[in-house]
Amino acid sequence: MFVVNAKNDMRRAIARAVEARPEVLTHSFSDYSVEGSEGNYYRVTIRQFGHCLGVDCACTGGQFGNACYHAAAALAEHTRLVITGAAAPAPARDRNLTYVESDLRAIRRAAESSRDFETADEIQRAVRSALQALGEYELGLLPKVGSAAA
Ligand SMILES: [Zn+2]
Repeated sequence: MFVVNAKNDMRRAIARAVEARPEVLTHSFSDYSVEGSEGNYYRVTIRQFGHCLGVDCACTGGQFGNACYHAAAALAEHTRLVITGAAAPAPARDRNLTYVESDLRAIRRAAESSRDFETADEIQRAVRSALQALGEYELGLLPKVGSAAA
């Protein structure tokens, strides 16, 4: 983690972010995934420490406390969310997705009380897989910033 303050020069990281224009996915306010140079994504979390922001990036440089361009890109999005007042960018969730998720959880609970362990196990596996697919589908619905911001 590194702290955003006067001691940490972020000019290089910012210049690199401007040049690379990585895609930034917003999971929630303070929680982002930023596209890396290989097309992979790094998780970036931003936390408030008193009057400073602490930034964590899962990339190698970030793990060593360096201000990487993923962090710079996430900070830009973080700042945009604060300035535009969209600090909690929870996109209105499709009501049907909520129903599907709640039904899947009900199926899982019903399977837990089954005495037929083999069938219960199969149901658990199917529900897990469906919930994961649902999560991935929703991740694809998130607004994709970074590339769209001019
Ligand atoms: Zn990084």
